[in-house]
Amino acid sequence: MSDCIFCKIIAGDIPSSKVYEDERLFVFKDINPKASVHLLVIPKSHIESMDDLNEQHQTLISHMMLKLPELARSQGLENGFRTIINTGPGGGQEVGHLHIHILGGKGLPGFN
Ligand code: AMP
Ligand code: ZN
Repeated sequence: MSDCIFCKIIAGDIPSSKVYEDERLFVFKDINPKASVHLLVIPKSHIESMDDLNEQHQTLISHMMLKLPELARSQGLENGFRTIINTGPGGGQEVGHLHIHILGGKGLPGFN
């Protein structure tokens, strides 16, 4: 997707604070952090939202999920962390490239 901001981050066309990268995932710090640790975990392939997932994505999605604790620990979150996935306008999704938020540390907002 040529006009996708997260695809541009993966390509290096827009700068980001990269935390981790492998052949399937790219992980970087949220530009407007809602807590002292706020990461975004995104697939390198452009998938708009959870609404666009199908069985072909099973390996990718399990890879993303299984990486989360390691990523949280790498940022000092030894005690636990929160994950959020917003889906579509009704779910408050602002960027149309699937992403998992990892939040933790000081300033973690209330759930509501
Ligand atoms: P969502 O509302 O779930 O779509 O979350 C989108 C997130 O992307 C927000 O928390 C934004 O702060 C974050 N964001 C938007 N643009 C950038 C960027 N260029 N670099 C890092 N994070 C970004
Ligand atoms: Zn994209």
